Amino acid sequence: MTPNPSDLPALVAVYARRSVEVGLNQGASGNVSARSPGGFLITPSGRDMSTLAAADMVPVDLDGAAPEGMQPSSEWRFHRDIYAAFAEAGAIVHAHSPFAVALACLRRDLPAFHYMVAMAGGADIRCARYATFGTQALSDAVLQALQGRRACLMANHGLLAWGGNLADALALAVEVEALSGQYLRCLQAGGPVLLSGAEMDEAIERFRDYGRRP
Ligand code: 13P
Ligand code: ZN
Repeated sequence: MTPNPSDLPALVAVYARRSVEVGLNQGASGNVSARSPGGFLITPSGRDMSTLAAADMVPVDLDGAAPEGMQPSSEWRFHRDIYAAFAEAGAIVHAHSPFAVALACLRRDLPAFHYMVAMAGGADIRCARYATFGTQALSDAVLQALQGRRACLMANHGLLAWGGNLADALALAVEVEALSGQYLRCLQAGGPVLLSGAEMDEAIERFRDYGRRP
């Protein structure tokens, strides 16, 4: 059953489960959040993402405070910092998906090998430098990689994507995973021909209103 859009905890739970259904996450890997008045709602730490329900979602304020007895995702710091840095960010999806993890373990950025790279807002999708999960150092690395972008890879870890809402954040995460697989194939076959800066600029321009309903 699709929850009422005003029922944010139920909606975050739906997207956490969906991140498993679409093959982005497994077990407790990854986390999902959505902005709420005064902070955000995030998946709990260390729980199987496929079984989460509305009541499991943890409200976190912008200082990182959560209710007694509730354990927010260990990555609440980068969720908080993304909401603080990007006023348009309404939701975030973080995943340990197979191809993004593989590419992130090679510590490779996704270059302009396909025009869909522009969906993340620029001519490449960067790989954030490595830092231990759940640390402020990881959040700092991610924020640096996200400059001018809505997605990044995370070295030896995975990917993250943000969007105006949960559907957009998940769609971008799915696309970054697909691009990672496509780019790995290109590398195996000898390396892709890259698009020029002008070609990517045109794609970025087209993405400004692509898919927007009138
Ligand atoms: P949490 O269960 O604490 O969200 O951790 C999963 C994860 O992906 C850490 O990077
Ligand atoms: Zn993770």
